[in-house]
Amino acid sequence: MIRQFELVETVKAYEPGADEDGLNRAYVFAMKAHGSQTRASGDPYFSHPLEVAGILTRYKVDSATIITALLHDTIEDTSATAEDIRGMFGDEVARLVDGVTKLTRIEFQSDQAKQAENFRKFVLAMSEDIRVLLVKLADRLHNMRTLHFISKPEKRLRIANETMDIYAPLAERIGMQTMKAELEDLAFAEINPDARKSILRRLNFLRDKGEDVILRVIIELKDLLSEHGINAQVIGREKTPYSIWRKMQKKDVGFEQLSDIMAFRVVVDSVDDCYKTLGVAHSAYQVVPDRFKDYISTRKPNGYQSLHTGIFGPERQRIELQIRTHEMHEIAEGGFAAHWNYKQGGELKEGKQYRWLRDMLDILEHAAGPEEFLEHTKLEMFQDQVFCFTPRGDLINLPHGATPVDFAYAVHSEVGDRCVGSKINGRMMPLRSQLRNGDQVEIVTSKAQTPSPTWERFVVTGKARSRIRRFIRLQEREEYEKLGRSILQRVFKDEGYDLTDKGLSGILKKFAQPAVEDLCAQVGSGHITGRGVLEAVFPAVKSKNDEQNKNVVPISKARSKSGKVGKDGVSITGLIPGMAMHLAACCHPLPGDRIVGIVVTGKGITIHTIDCDILETFHDQPERWLDVAWDSDLASDIHQGRIHLSVSNTPGALGELSTIIAKSNGNISNLKIVNRAQDFFDILIDVEVKDVKHLTEVIAALRASPAVNSVDRARG
Ligand code: MN
Repeated sequence: MIRQFELVETVKAYEPGADEDGLNRAYVFAMKAHGSQTRASGDPYFSHPLEVAGILTRYKVDSATIITALLHDTIEDTSATAEDIRGMFGDEVARLVDGVTKLTRIEFQSDQAKQAENFRKFVLAMSEDIRVLLVKLADRLHNMRTLHFISKPEKRLRIANETMDIYAPLAERIGMQTMKAELEDLAFAEINPDARKSILRRLNFLRDKGEDVILRVIIELKDLLSEHGINAQVIGREKTPYSIWRKMQKKDVGFEQLSDIMAFRVVVDSVDDCYKTLGVAHSAYQVVPDRFKDYISTRKPNGYQSLHTGIFGPERQRIELQIRTHEMHEIAEGGFAAHWNYKQGGELKEGKQYRWLRDMLDILEHAAGPEEFLEHTKLEMFQDQVFCFTPRGDLINLPHGATPVDFAYAVHSEVGDRCVGSKINGRMMPLRSQLRNGDQVEIVTSKAQTPSPTWERFVVTGKARSRIRRFIRLQEREEYEKLGRSILQRVFKDEGYDLTDKGLSGILKKFAQPAVEDLCAQVGSGHITGRGVLEAVFPAVKSKNDEQNKNVVPISKARSKSGKVGKDGVSITGLIPGMAMHLAACCHPLPGDRIVGIVVTGKGITIHTIDCDILETFHDQPERWLDVAWDSDLASDIHQGRIHLSVSNTPGALGELSTIIAKSNGNISNLKIVNRAQDFFDILIDVEVKDVKHLTEVIAALRASPAVNSVDRARG
């Protein structure tokens, strides 16, 4: 275990202004918090956060990140709370620790490889600060190094797969090559131990046979370069078993043919020397075709720069050469942490912690590689998405602002159509709730449910919206068809004719309708009149009617006398207000009111009370009038009545009103003060009632109150 002063000294060596006090306090806090807990290895638990901090010092990260590393498991695994951390270490560290804790909670949910890309995006989205991701990667690296202590094979395998699919690619994405290579190789050892063993055996064999080829190649390369006046550091290494394995799979070759198992890095002083080195190597040795890549002039999106080439080198060994400057080398090994370090000249000044994050985003933004740019770069790109889980742990990726309805449609169209409720993180929540990153969402469905038009107002995904619209259109059409048929039946019957589908089929062409159903829907929606259809089927009606129309009673008069619509009106019962029939907003008809329907072209029927003033507008259009009656099914429904009150402006008057309405079993759904004077004010109240009788009772009760000056049913 690293000792306290060693850790502090290491950080101070690269960050002279390090928060020494904070580091010391974090060390002691974490050690005490983890107390006597132990790891699977039998080591004290505290050795883990300490090792994680140690790994991170190699990347020269700032002291806030090291402090976070020391504290990263305290919230999840000890009695320490987020408030404790904030109180002792401030907002910045608290935020970072919170970020790592959230990532830790999430990793156990799923291991499906097909969702790996989603998971990677998710981790990026959760790591709003790149330092959160750095701590998480170091945490994972140490857990992988100690993976063999875990006794359950299936748990080891799950962690290894997760590392291979999610964390190693993330390390690569932010430019941490060594971290990526080690994570991959540790995961490979767990996932495919036999393959790894056989590669290692073969490597050993080659090593024995070659008698230290690497060393001889290094010496020869160094001599060659110094002859040309280039001061170079040559580092030789065998590739990791996993990178050899991957190459074997990619190229579909056996280990025998795969000879470039050695890679050499030539590290020189300047970019100029890089190209000189390349020239020297290419003229001294035979070049392996198609292996040259210039990542200096075009860096990789993660900031990586080097020249790559393959040569048949000293001893005719096929080797890979990576040529780079010292700075490029540091970045390749350490990613953005190293890059930042270079830019700052190794000195972190007070308050500049965020420079590092900005620098990184800057590099990402200006990185080349157009396809990779979109897919792999800016962290912020994922901030406008939310990632939620199904109860089974599948990840669903949604745009920002998405609701459980969007989630349901994303799972399956059927689930969306049938959803009646949602549980977010185990609690029942409204379908209109906005989902947040990491939410676990369970959709409650019912076979009886159908998409609701109100959903359209809050869904944000195209899939949900189009399904809901499609359903509304279908349902509307069905209602129009049903309504149209009723209108036709009545019109035909009034004139003593029978309505038959056969009769209607004969006139489809005249109205340019493909089928009888379409014709009925057109009548229902008001595009074609019932009379028009009748006269088309029985032309004789027309002449007879023209005769009669001379003595027709104007509708308005017929109405004022009897309250009934005249001859042209059609009586409809048994239809329920829905998409094809609307209750007018001007007069708020209630069951029990005498009502009349007005056909509005393209919108079906609007129902008004018989004394509604609006009806005057239609008195010369008898073909629009329908005599409608309330359906008895409506009795159980709740309807909205509107009343207009004039109330004295005294304390407690409004309270009294609501008490009276509640006592009459009415429910206030809306209240609007329209006119406020010193002595009285005018109020409009929408009350939910059963029918007109109920509303009358409410009004009578209000009238009895001394606070109420006048009360009426509101019109218009
Ligand atoms: Mn940990």
